[in-house]
Amino acid sequence: MLKGFLPSQHVKSIFEITPQSLKEKGIKAIITDLDNTLVEWDRPAATPKLIKWIDGMRNEGILVTIVSNNNEQRVKSFSDPLKIPFIFRAKKPMGNAFRKAIKAMGTQKSETVVIGDQLLTDIFGGNRNGFHTILVVPVAQSDGFFTKFNRKIERRILSSFRKKGMLNWEDPK
Ligand SMILES: [Mg+2]
Repeated sequence: MLKGFLPSQHVKSIFEITPQSLKEKGIKAIITDLDNTLVEWDRPAATPKLIKWIDGMRNEGILVTIVSNNNEQRVKSFSDPLKIPFIFRAKKPMGNAFRKAIKAMGTQKSETVVIGDQLLTDIFGGNRNGFHTILVVPVAQSDGFFTKFNRKIERRILSSFRKKGMLNWEDPK
């Protein structure tokens, strides 16, 4: 029953994800969460390291779309300077925004990875809609108001995975 929450892969940060590692899996495009995946939820703009990571992906022909449940102001003001397409109020784990993103990028689900820091929205949503999924450790220890509720449930699922040996990383909290 918890299987829908198990990511295809898990990493400590997005910086562990390289164009080469994606290409080896036949991945051509990234759908990524914003808050606590790319930067801290309360950091308004990308860091130089993140800009370099995104440029590295683009230089290797990997397409990137930001799909966030946050509001237009937050997602637009973050994405526009990077010239990255974005979808705000995505209602993850619902699949509509993911489908819209791959349609715009012209890729198949099997060629697209969903990256995020939350099991209940990013990973569950990606899995149930047929994408490869990568869970990252949240960039910040703190969360926005609504995320705090999800984290409680998430901690239980993560601890169950760890007990079964399905995930082997330190508790992100
Ligand atoms: Mg997030």
